[in-house]
Amino acid sequence: MDDQTPFFNLFDLDREALLALLAERGHRPFRATQLMKWVYHRRVTDYTAMTDLSKPFRTWLETHARFDLPTAVSDQKSRDGTRKWLFELVDGNCVETVYIPDGERGTLCISSQVGCPIDCRFCATARQGFNRNLTTGEIVAQLWLARAALDAEGAGREVTNVVLMGMGEPLLNFQAVVHATNLMKDDLAFGLSKRRVTLSTSGIVPAMDRLAEVSDISLAVSIHAPNDALRSELVPINRKYPLREVVAAAKRYIGAERYRVVTFEYVLLAGVNDQPEHARELARVLRGVPAKVNLIPYNLVEGIHYQRPGDHVVDAFRAVLQAHGLVTITRKTRGDDIDAACGQLVGKVDSRRRRDRIAKGIE
Ligand code: SAH
Repeated sequence: MDDQTPFFNLFDLDREALLALLAERGHRPFRATQLMKWVYHRRVTDYTAMTDLSKPFRTWLETHARFDLPTAVSDQKSRDGTRKWLFELVDGNCVETVYIPDGERGTLCISSQVGCPIDCRFCATARQGFNRNLTTGEIVAQLWLARAALDAEGAGREVTNVVLMGMGEPLLNFQAVVHATNLMKDDLAFGLSKRRVTLSTSGIVPAMDRLAEVSDISLAVSIHAPNDALRSELVPINRKYPLREVVAAAKRYIGAERYRVVTFEYVLLAGVNDQPEHARELARVLRGVPAKVNLIPYNLVEGIHYQRPGDHVVDAFRAVLQAHGLVTITRKTRGDDIDAACGQLVGKVDSRRRRDRIAKGIE
């Protein structure tokens, strides 16, 4: 065994990658099964406790494999039970992860990038700019840590669904996101069904097609406007991948498997895209697509001028879509008192750090 080999982070490897690595280093394939069960089912990361592993394999792990986990630097609970963690990564960057309990369901909203390069006009994450992609391990760790924290709480809450709807554009971090979602679906890891793992994209058309080739997770598309003029204004990436191409790619993603539907997310901005004629135009754009529409009344962001429409406007918009046969739901606002609602995630660490520095007299 080569002692020069740098340590690898086990959370970076999906089953296929782990098997390949073990084969390359002369370890038998069943070691992958044993190891994954310890880590993901029993949540043990101390090799000495992994009693069914051979001594030489444990020694090899000790000298080659690590479990890198971010640190929770804050853990907030909303009035409505929504919980938000701020995780600090090894390089000091921070991302946010949100848990949303709803009856039997528990949805974990995960980040895929530090910041975001897609400049959606209404989104808080966009305003902080883009810093870097998360690694597979950093994406997976959000789920691993959330499950551990919920277990420790002892209230019987579980993560039943994962949505890649936190900070970042997941399809611009393709490989890491695919590997992470493989682990989410793997029975040896988190064992979630493909219907319970959803990736949300602003519409990166070529990556949507690539995803269809390598994965079967559920897809959500942030559409937000029924025509190119308005969409290009709100979601500037529309100039590169226009509306009709995005909708066509969503349709291709469903392919022949008719049981899949694509969710279209539509943030409702008062007086901008919330009128009945917008709804009628949207229904025309989505005609023939097995689609579900998720309306998100705008969550206010400090420093951004958009407003949330009144409930009657939201209801009227939904009624038009429903009259056109589109399954439409209005997303309940959750966790807004702790800035955990859609579009409010910013990994607010700078101001906190700054406060610390000021407190320590450094600034
Ligand atoms: N970049 C991906 C993943 C983010 S998902 C995407 O765009 O799909 C987060 C969802 O919340 C997106 O649909 C986004 O457009 C929406 N959103 C952003 N800011 C919002 C806000 N202030 N209020 C409500 N929804 C918002």
